Amino acid sequence: MFRIGIDMGGTKIEAVVMAPDGAITARQRVATPQDYESEIRTLKQLVESLESQLPERAFVGVCHPGSFSPATGLMRNANSTWLNGKSLKSDLEAALARTIKFANDADCFAVSEAKDGAGAGFSTVFGVIIGTGTGGGIVKDGHLHTGPSAIAGEWGHIPLPWPSVEELSIPPCWCGLQGCLETWLSGTGLSADHHRMTGQSLKGEDIVAHALAGDEQARASLTRHADRMARGLAVVLNILDPDCVVLGGGLSNIPNLSAAIEARLPRYVFSDTIKTVIRRAQHGDSSGVRGAAWLWTLEGPSPQ
Ligand SMILES: [Zn+2]
Repeated sequence: MFRIGIDMGGTKIEAVVMAPDGAITARQRVATPQDYESEIRTLKQLVESLESQLPERAFVGVCHPGSFSPATGLMRNANSTWLNGKSLKSDLEAALARTIKFANDADCFAVSEAKDGAGAGFSTVFGVIIGTGTGGGIVKDGHLHTGPSAIAGEWGHIPLPWPSVEELSIPPCWCGLQGCLETWLSGTGLSADHHRMTGQSLKGEDIVAHALAGDEQARASLTRHADRMARGLAVVLNILDPDCVVLGGGLSNIPNLSAAIEARLPRYVFSDTIKTVIRRAQHGDSSGVRGAAWLWTLEGPSPQ
């Protein structure tokens, strides 16, 4: 079977052909049209163009922003705002005349890494994205776990556990609550924390660069970040006890982050032994298209 994976980014759409063995054999990128009808048309054209080079119809998986409302089936919370309130699933399935599998970016990331990335060979994988935002996805024995409300793995919007006194003056989160992990662990969260403590305005990657150059304040910011990562993940370990946690997104490039988290976990996890391994992602920016394509293998072929 051939699969086509599509990543619906806000500025570009990427689509790939994945051969039966998982190899990517073709890739196309186009700018994302900024209105709904044009985007559906573009997605259709991309699939038809890639499929014209294949011996048979492909199974199509889509990595989408935002989420589908379980109540209405319509898109919500997408930063590509023209998608919100639309029946993306049924409209695209009608345009392409087939069943299509959909998952959000954190879920696609978890699937991609669990299938043949840093989490390959592990039974339960928790995939974490720490970048502009913070999210997560759960894969158990090759199956993506989404849950009845489609929020499984939404790690970014639980509160920072075991806060210190200083952390109790908690930052507001865009979701309407306060002190969510995302407000501490995302790139903007790291940047805001560094500003609160030092008065310096630095982006996440600049804080990393300063730390590598020996800046003690930047190092301290990364230490606080690693400790908060450990606290956030300790809650996941207490509930899910995954075999592997895979870190992705821009901040997963912080040097030695996995080791720093592993060193701090025993303080917080409710066990005298921790067997969960923390690993950095292998597939980088390709997780959206790769995970979207792998959605079919993980859940078994279905009739088109
Ligand atoms: Zn929140």
